[in-house]
Amino acid sequence: MHTKQVGENIFLIDLETGGFKNLIASYVLKGTNTIIVETGPTASIPNLLSGLQELHVALDSVSHVAISHVHIDHGGGVGTLLKKLPNAKVIVHPRGAPHLIDPAKLWAQSKQVLGHVAEIYGEPLPVPEDRIITATDGMALDAGNSLCLETIEALGHASHNLSYFESLNKSMFPGDAAGMYIGEFDVVVPTTPPPFYLDVALQSLEKLASFNPKALYYSHFGKADGGVKRLRDYAAQIKRWGEIAEDGVKNGQSQSAITERILREDEAMRKAADYFQAHPVLVKTAIENSVQGFIEYAEKSQA
Ligand SMILES: [Zn+2]
Repeated sequence: MHTKQVGENIFLIDLETGGFKNLIASYVLKGTNTIIVETGPTASIPNLLSGLQELHVALDSVSHVAISHVHIDHGGGVGTLLKKLPNAKVIVHPRGAPHLIDPAKLWAQSKQVLGHVAEIYGEPLPVPEDRIITATDGMALDAGNSLCLETIEALGHASHNLSYFESLNKSMFPGDAAGMYIGEFDVVVPTTPPPFYLDVALQSLEKLASFNPKALYYSHFGKADGGVKRLRDYAAQIKRWGEIAEDGVKNGQSQSAITERILREDEAMRKAADYFQAHPVLVKTAIENSVQGFIEYAEKSQA
C-alpha cells in the first residue's frame, strides 16, 4: 500500500482508485484520536482500510470523517467506510447532508455527468442520519496532540464545499476549491464542472488565503508547498479561463474551439496536455467538464 507522512502527525493514503496512482488522496490526522479527511469513492474503501492498517490506526480511534463535498470521488465511500468505524461521525456541509442520507439522485447524476468513470468509482451507500454532523465556518475538530481541524465554507466548485485548516502544520485541505494538482508536472488544473460559479470561487480562494497556509493538501493529488501563492495563482488561472470562455460564447464559438484556445494559452494545460488526453479519468473530468463549467457560467452571465 502507499502511505506517506506529509506533516507532523499527518499522513497521505494514495487510494489508487481504479488502479490509478496519484489520482485521489485521503489524509489521516493521528492525534490521541484519528480524523480522516476525504474518503474517496466506494471502490477505494478497501485501499483506504489497508492504508489505515499500515499506519496502525485502530478503527475505533477514528472520531471524524471529514469530507469536502459529496461528489462521489470525494465522499462517495463514506457510507461503506462508516460500517467499519464504530465511533466516527461524518462532517459535511448542510447542503451535502441530504445526498449522503439518500444518495440515489447523486448516483443518477454522477452516471450522467461522468459516464463510465462513475462505474470506476462505484455506487455510494447511504449514511445513517444520526452519524452526520453538519458544518459551515468555524467548527473545530480536535484530534488531540495539538492537532485540530477548522472547517471553512469554500463554495464555487460546489454549492456545499468545505475546506479544512490545520494550524499546527498550517495545512490547508481545500477539497476541490483550489483545483487539481499534478505533481509530476507541478501544475494545477481547474476543477470547475457545471454548475460552476466563478465569482463565488474567487471569493473562496481569498478566504482560504487569509489563513496563510504553508501548504495545500490536494484531494487530487498530494501536498504542495507555497500555499498562499498557489491559491492566488489558481485565482488568476480561473479568471483567465473565464475570460476565454466569455469571449468564445460572445463570438458563438463551439466548446471544442474554446477548449483548444484554453489548451493553447494556459501554460499548465500545455505542459500536461498529453498526460490528460491519455488519462482515462482525467480526459473527461479535468478538461471536458471543467471547460463546460466556464461556458455555462459565461452563458448565464450574458443572458
Ligand atoms: Zn467535486
